[in-house]
Amino acid sequence: MRDTLVLNASFEPLSTVTLNRAVVLVLQDKAVVEQAHPDLRMRGAAIDIPVPRVIRLCRYVRVPFRRRAPWSRRGVLVRDQHRCAYCGRRATTVDHVVPRSHGGADSWLNTVASCAEDNHRKADRTPEEAGMPLLRQPFEPTPADAMLLSLGAGEMESLPDWLNGQSAAA
Ligand SMILES: [Zn+2]
Repeated sequence: MRDTLVLNASFEPLSTVTLNRAVVLVLQDKAVVEQAHPDLRMRGAAIDIPVPRVIRLCRYVRVPFRRRAPWSRRGVLVRDQHRCAYCGRRATTVDHVVPRSHGGADSWLNTVASCAEDNHRKADRTPEEAGMPLLRQPFEPTPADAMLLSLGAGEMESLPDWLNGQSAAA
């Protein structure tokens, strides 16, 4: 779900992010809420913020003028929201769809987040050979997406469940 617009500090639109990531950026004081859903708030033990529709980064970021976002293992895990591409459970490893031993590359389109069990089970095989279809196809983030992924990455784990469930209390 990509439903929150992210503006640069200069108010120029950068990209959209999931509600979860928008909230992370706001909670980390990396962004402020510019526009919120009327009457919707997210409440937790120590948190009470409006559900953001538009957020603006506190610091201006220069989006790299690049056609492609640099690949990284962490980037793949964040792109896939730490969900295994084979079973949907929590992923901690990165799997090469076409194994490296078969010439598979370290690239956005050839890598997915995977739980350790499925990574081990799939081993040195393609999804077809292993009989393990992908739940979703890998995609290549834009440079603006990759920049936003790297902002506030890794903090999702510390969020309370009610936030990760994207619930919004009215
Ligand atoms: Zn799995």
